[in-house]
Amino acid sequence: MSESRQSKLETLAISGMTCANCSGRVEKELNNQPGVKLATVNLATERATIEYEADQTSVEKLIDSIEAIGYGALRYDEEHKRQIEEEREQEVSKMKRDLIISASLSAPMVIGMILMMLGLDNPVVTFIHNPIVQLILATPVQFWIGARFYKGAYHALKTKAPNMDVLVALGTSAAYLLSIYNGFISKTTHDLYFESSAVIITLILLGKFLEQRAKAKTSGAIKQLMTLQAKEATVIRGGKSIVLPIDDVVVGDRIQVKPGEQVPVDGVVLEGHTTLDESMLTGESLPVEKQAGDSVYGGTINTTGNVIFEAKQIGSETALSRIIRMVEEAQGSKAPIQAVADKIASVFVPIVLVLALLTLIVTGLVTKNWETALIHSVSVLVIACPCALGLATPTAIMVGTGLGAKNGILIKGGEALERAARIDAIVIDKTGTLTKGKPVVTEFEVEYDLGDPYVVLEKLASLEKLSEHPLAQAIVSYAEEKEVNTDVPVADFEAIVGSGVKGTIEGKGYNVGTRRLIEQQGIVITLGQLERVSLLESQGKTAMYLADSERVIAIVAVADEVKESSKEAIQQLHDKGIEVFMLTGDNQRTAEFIGEQVGLDSRHVFAEVLPEDKANYVQTLRDRGKFVAMVGDGINDAPALAVADVGIAMGTGTDIAMETADVTLMTGDLLHLSKMTTLSKLTMSKIKQNLFWAFIYNTIGIPFAAFGLLNPIVAGGAMAFSSVSVLLNSLSLNRKKI
Ligand code: ADP
Ligand code: MG
Repeated sequence: MSESRQSKLETLAISGMTCANCSGRVEKELNNQPGVKLATVNLATERATIEYEADQTSVEKLIDSIEAIGYGALRYDEEHKRQIEEEREQEVSKMKRDLIISASLSAPMVIGMILMMLGLDNPVVTFIHNPIVQLILATPVQFWIGARFYKGAYHALKTKAPNMDVLVALGTSAAYLLSIYNGFISKTTHDLYFESSAVIITLILLGKFLEQRAKAKTSGAIKQLMTLQAKEATVIRGGKSIVLPIDDVVVGDRIQVKPGEQVPVDGVVLEGHTTLDESMLTGESLPVEKQAGDSVYGGTINTTGNVIFEAKQIGSETALSRIIRMVEEAQGSKAPIQAVADKIASVFVPIVLVLALLTLIVTGLVTKNWETALIHSVSVLVIACPCALGLATPTAIMVGTGLGAKNGILIKGGEALERAARIDAIVIDKTGTLTKGKPVVTEFEVEYDLGDPYVVLEKLASLEKLSEHPLAQAIVSYAEEKEVNTDVPVADFEAIVGSGVKGTIEGKGYNVGTRRLIEQQGIVITLGQLERVSLLESQGKTAMYLADSERVIAIVAVADEVKESSKEAIQQLHDKGIEVFMLTGDNQRTAEFIGEQVGLDSRHVFAEVLPEDKANYVQTLRDRGKFVAMVGDGINDAPALAVADVGIAMGTGTDIAMETADVTLMTGDLLHLSKMTTLSKLTMSKIKQNLFWAFIYNTIGIPFAAFGLLNPIVAGGAMAFSSVSVLLNSLSLNRKKI
């Protein structure tokens, strides 16, 4: 315990990273720091997540270590977010300015080249091809605009982790210096490559600029969620209603929401009746009715009525804030598949350097034309930048998790997404997951007349009032409807998870729950009682016994309706070839009845399973080679959720379960399960496409360049657009219907 208390989690915004080698370098540096348990760096979000021991290092030290290797770092928190955002915007506008300058200087050289190729020969063309004019145009591009590449290359070489900057700096410098030699020193040739070096720099800058803009779009889901946060709230204080900035709202405030207005924070309705549009949080398009006692969530929209509610969660505690945080974390996380790309990227640059050198030497020796040899090796350097490789995975993860959030499916991160795509068996908890989880009492039968049957109900309800279980709540509501006292003092209360409850009233011990629980107390259930219960169970009801220390004194039956969409949801999963199982603590007969209603084979229904055994069932399926997802409401299903390959919690975003589960479905609608598998599969196939193209492009490009089949300008253009195409491919996920 003490270990986890000391270890802290921190997110830093990293600036100055240009490709996977950079993020790999920063990650390695952080992981080498004393006290750092685990650091991951995401190139797409430009963030590092670091888990460290607070007594061994500090955020300041970590930031210093990043700065020491030539990158910038800032704490990624509320305080710095704006600054980080501004710096990024400045960076983009600087890039835009550089791009314009660089393009304007390169353009005359390109035009000149084209005119010459067209065979035109006039004073203008001659003027542009004057070595001095070319030198004047190319030099600022090379050393002023191109300074970023030299700087990057310098840091990379200093830390012995060559990156794309090294390739660009080396390639363009070679073309530039060769042109100076040819133009001013050589007596034999006068060929100039100034336009190559300048155009390569311009194109790469253009690629980076487009990349930056597209990257901003991948976090669109977060921005959209953020716009849902209200700016102000109408608060009733001292009988007057005042409009306050959202930050001034405190817990306990009475808040008024008029039709068409946004609910500002989370709370519980005190007065009024209305319907809310909660689609932004749950992905559920139907409006939801709200009245006194119902929970409302910040960011949802009031449609028709007027309500006053009490603020319960504000600021970073609201469901919306938590969802935003979770999506942010998910988008910043890494998928295991990325490890392959990172590995390739880390060896790519050194290999390319060697290949470029080989191209130079071999071509030089074979053709005796060292100038051509040098230009070929420039092409090799430029074509082989592994930028696209670094962006392939994180950009798809960002778009995929963002799209999920928009549809009410919160996916924990890249790893969860990757695993979700592999599911071939889903285990679903019955109560509250397949069924509505809002059971109602259908029968209450007193076995022995203890005078007033309501006295028995009084005891039963008072016991159940202390339980959190939905069955207990059903019994309490039933008693309240009958206007029976539910507050009889109970001593020695105990909840036996998955079985029932016990307690002492007026000196006498009582048990409520399953047959097993009652029989464990040494109480004999009569044949008549067993038969009665069996009949109720075959009607799909959950029947429980209430016993005192001697005998069963009442039977209570509760029915929980199956959710409308459960059957269709299971059908969809079956159609996808996914096996579906039902797991419940309820008895076999009830379970089978419900199973039949939703289209499950009785062999796929596991009943009377104690909570601790739920995890064993999941494990058994895994041992049989299944890749198993478990869906539960997260309370007594927690161990099973943890054992499953993918734990899926149902919740409204307020549930604690969403912090432990891999996936949270924000509505109870099981149709989201099929959507989740579609989404994860689509995202994974995008990642694979991206990796394939990024890799193929690099490896195919190299031999072409080495044999002189790619001119350096084309190589520069291809390299710039490979990253952009990967990004566009990831963004195209947004247009997919799931
Ligand atoms: P599920 O797996 O369907 O969510 P649980 O494991 O929570 O069900 O409970 C299993 C069985 O234990 C219930 O069907 C019920 O018979 C009994 N039980 C659980 N909690 C209570 C309670 N508070 N009062 C009475 N019976 C209970
Ligand atoms: Mg349950």
